Amino acid sequence: MSAMSVIDSHCHLDFPDFAEEIDAVVARARAAGVERMVTISTRVARGEAYRALAERFAQVYFTIGTHPHQAAEEAETDFHAIRRFAAHPKCVAIGEAGLDHHYDYAPREIAERVFRAQIGLARELDLPLVIHARDADDDVARILREEMARGRFAALLHCFTSSRALAETGLELGLYISFSGVLTFKNSADLRAIARDCPLDRVLVETDAPYLAPVPHRGRRNEPAFVVSTARALAEAKGVSFDEIASATRANTLAIFRKMNEGRA
Ligand SMILES: [Zn+2]
Ligand SMILES: [Zn+2]
Repeated sequence: MSAMSVIDSHCHLDFPDFAEEIDAVVARARAAGVERMVTISTRVARGEAYRALAERFAQVYFTIGTHPHQAAEEAETDFHAIRRFAAHPKCVAIGEAGLDHHYDYAPREIAERVFRAQIGLARELDLPLVIHARDADDDVARILREEMARGRFAALLHCFTSSRALAETGLELGLYISFSGVLTFKNSADLRAIARDCPLDRVLVETDAPYLAPVPHRGRRNEPAFVVSTARALAEAKGVSFDEIASATRANTLAIFRKMNEGRA
């Protein structure tokens, strides 16, 4: 056991998977050395639920935005509601927003419009954007390049499982890259090679709980406490100590989610 603490930069604590034991989930995270966690919005319409979690637990922060799976459902971005939630001291980012061509739950033109609207809000509100990109490397790279040219914004590619080319585009545009439990999977050698080559000052770790539990918890419901296993895998991939990864990913999380620094001793 190390005394170093880790931050879970992406989880979904509002999901019904946790409803029965949310106090225990947060307590187990703390016991495992997971100092803080960010519960991520998938629907602006559920904003009250995310805010309530952040107000209930000192360790929990939240984001506000529309997941690409919900882009048709929230096709008309509620700018007023997003601005209102974003003003909360513990709302640290916009998103998760992006494109998911693996599922294509929303028509692609709607998904792209909703993604771009949230980029505009991230820029306007000077908050980072949490980006979900799945099987959409070329479109995400194109949109990021076009939008960055219109005006800079801070962003991270969450649960990174895309190509080396998208990682390189993201890094070139100043984005951070967050790795999930997928990094620990036996068949993720290519992903570990990408992680190895990402600069130490641009990487984060996350669970994306309740999904994607890392080895040795694979196949079970994921929870923030398990982010420690992903941090360990990232340390191994990069050939550095666990403490070094814990410290770097913590510093990077606080660098991108700047509001996490405010109001704390
Ligand atoms: Zn996602
Ligand atoms: Zn997510």
